Amino acid sequence: MTIWRKRSPTPNKDDPQRQNNTYIELKKEITPLRGQGELPTKVTGSFGRHYCDLCSSTFPVEELRQCSLCGRWVCDNCLTKDYYICNSCNGILKLYMIKK
Ligand SMILES: [Zn+2]
Ligand SMILES: [Zn+2]
Repeated sequence: MTIWRKRSPTPNKDDPQRQNNTYIELKKEITPLRGQGELPTKVTGSFGRHYCDLCSSTFPVEELRQCSLCGRWVCDNCLTKDYYICNSCNGILKLYMIKK
């Protein structure tokens, strides 16, 4: 007996190609706030601390991740780990996928 794989509610897992295309299209649409490799904003007077570009909390630079779409530096809470993009871009990505 063949057990059919249930359709996943998230289309990405079943169709990496589609996810990839969406990512590329999204990348064209989002104007990067920073270039890749550009450093996050330093906190004045606080050595080694940098701002999360979304929640404006401060973190050591090792704890911030750069969003691969908009270039924002975000903390763990503001990062969508599935795609390594910030929550702001993830919101746009979700809208984008609904539209399709
Ligand atoms: Zn944050
Ligand atoms: Zn982003």
